[in-house]
Formats: sequence, C-alpha cells, structure tokens
Amino acid sequence: MRTLEITLRAEVGLFRELSRLEQDLLRAAAEARLQAQAPYSGYWVGAAVVNAAHDTLHVGCNVENVAYCGIHAEDNAITNMVCQLGPSKIQMLAFLAASASVEINLETQVYESVANRFEQIGCPCGQCLQKIWENCFNDPTVMILSRLPNGEISRAPIGSLLPVRFGPETLGIDYAKLARK
Ligand SMILES: [Zn+2]
Repeated sequence: MRTLEITLRAEVGLFRELSRLEQDLLRAAAEARLQAQAPYSGYWVGAAVVNAAHDTLHVGCNVENVAYCGIHAEDNAITNMVCQLGPSKIQMLAFLAASASVEINLETQVYESVANRFEQIGCPCGQCLQKIWENCFNDPTVMILSRLPNGEISRAPIGSLLPVRFGPETLGIDYAKLARK
C-alpha cells in the first residue's frame, strides 16, 4: 500500500484584521442569525454569501419545523442567492452559530486564544459543505469564515474543509456554462 497525504490549511485571527468585505459578510451573517426560527434546537445560525459575479450579499438563517426537516442557514443563504440570480458562484461564505441565549458581538475583545488545532476552527455540517461545494463551481479556494467561542475568526478554503469532493463535475456538470450573467 502507498500512503497519500494532503495538507489542510486554516487561519485564525481577529475581526479587525479582516478585509472590509469579510467584515461586512460576518456582520450580515450575525444579523441574519437573529431571525432564526429554532424552537426545537435552541441553536441560532446565520449565514451570508458574496456572489462572485455580482458582488451581492445574500443571507439566510436556520428555519426549523416540527417534522425536523428544517433548513440550515448556509443552505438558506445559497438558496436566496439562486432565487435572485439563478445558478451562480459563491465568492465567500460566512456563518455564525451559537445557542439562542448567546449574544454574538463581532467587535468583542478576544481574551484568550484557544484555537491551536485545525479541528477547532468553524466548519459547517457535512450536508451544508456538500451544498456549498455545489455553488463553488469547482473552485476549492472559496473561503469559509466563522467565529470561534472566544471571539476569534477562522478562515479556511472549502478545499480544506471538504478535502475529497463529490461534486457536479463528477457527473459532468459545468456550472460555469450554466451560470447566468
Ligand atoms: Zn448545515
């Protein structure tokens, strides 16, 4: 047997170190999170995406129902983007998740750095990673931003969060041709 290995990469830092666009995206996700409909989990999630072609922001929150077949925030944000623009590529996605009782303040002072291992960074659920990848148009460098419990921000390419990918290209679908300008 041969060993095959890849390197995973993520960055962790302060909110104020981010670009204006990254800060706007996280703020939009924080605002969307406040709309969460989550009486069953009590877990509020907000997400925001920037569209690559139009530079527009699209947001989503989690929407639960009693049949437990709800919508996750990341899925909701992407669906909103597609509803407005048709099939289109994500440039970047931010999501924020915490119990309903937690007030997320992005500008808050970071008191202690705790994220020293890759596994500690923010990562969407497996189902959302698959759905996000659908609208990355085969670009593994699309960035996913999140906030750690201590207030630091993590930034990682989808290629590191979903290193081995089953995607539209596997079935011969080329969204670059399907996307509407
Ligand atoms: Zn999810």
